[in-house]
Amino acid sequence: ARPRDLDATLLRSWPLTIPSNDADKEERGHVLILGGSREMPGAVILAAVAALRAGAGKLTVATGRSVAQLVALAIPESRVLGLDENETGGFTTEAVAALDPLADRINAVLIGPGMQDEEATACLVHALLPRLHGTETSVILDANAMGAILHPPAGVNPPFRFGVPVLVTPHAGEMAHLTGIAKENIPDGADRIAIEAAQRWNAVVALKGARTVIVSPEGERWQHEGGNVGLATSGSGDVLAGIIAGLAARGATLAQAAGWGVVLHAQAGERLAARMGRLGYLARELADEVPALLEQAA
Ligand code: AMP
Ligand code: MG
Repeated sequence: ARPRDLDATLLRSWPLTIPSNDADKEERGHVLILGGSREMPGAVILAAVAALRAGAGKLTVATGRSVAQLVALAIPESRVLGLDENETGGFTTEAVAALDPLADRINAVLIGPGMQDEEATACLVHALLPRLHGTETSVILDANAMGAILHPPAGVNPPFRFGVPVLVTPHAGEMAHLTGIAKENIPDGADRIAIEAAQRWNAVVALKGARTVIVSPEGERWQHEGGNVGLATSGSGDVLAGIIAGLAARGATLAQAAGWGVVLHAQAGERLAARMGRLGYLARELADEVPALLEQAA
């Protein structure tokens, strides 16, 4: 069957929790974002701001020690932890121990924006996931963190199958890398490719593009065609991942957070295009549109 459109009727049936007026920041959801590196500290900043714009109450960023200070200055709202780095810009696996005190206090964790070393990032994911067992933390893997699928722990054959469902958000190029399917064949085969991947990896898969398909491990499927070519710009996916993490921390399921996130991200692009033109708006401007869009949707 064709995937169901992520339209207003469907989204209304997935109401986002609106915190009561006397809620404190803990009740509004705590997001942890793990990412950034010497060459790409900005990705984590984009995702972090987007998580707050999506309404999360509390934010912790864990990034490389060499850039932690500048990330902290760029997001004064965040607590920033500096992790030990290896020579190639990845984090050491031991660095994950620094996150242990947080494990049962975060509602959503996003791993990957701006991380450089795929293998080191995969190791970090595999070190972190078992530490989240028994918590209700929603896990979102983007960019190099999806390398966890190709680089399982020692003794396990790829592709890795997650023990609890996580959300992965590949674009066509990343899906090609993860599956070995040629990138040119991804858009036409998107539905089937996403369904197979979701089953095989035990993950909610959001296969991004001008048309985005979201599939759950159970085979439920949704699609959205919206936004414009202005969204094809550096940092755009980091903003989407941050929005999704913020919504998941507020209590949305992974599939619902992905669905809402994809629609809000596209609508933000439409608003910016209407004001400035379809080309040349910046990824960092997308998140600023989200609060008003959320207010409209509520
Ligand atoms: P990334 O490639 O990870 O930066 O993600 C790019 C984001 O922009 C994804 O959410 C895509 O769905 C979206 N996007 C890219 N190109 C287009 C397009 N031509 N029309 C609409 N959305 C797009
Ligand atoms: Mg990306």
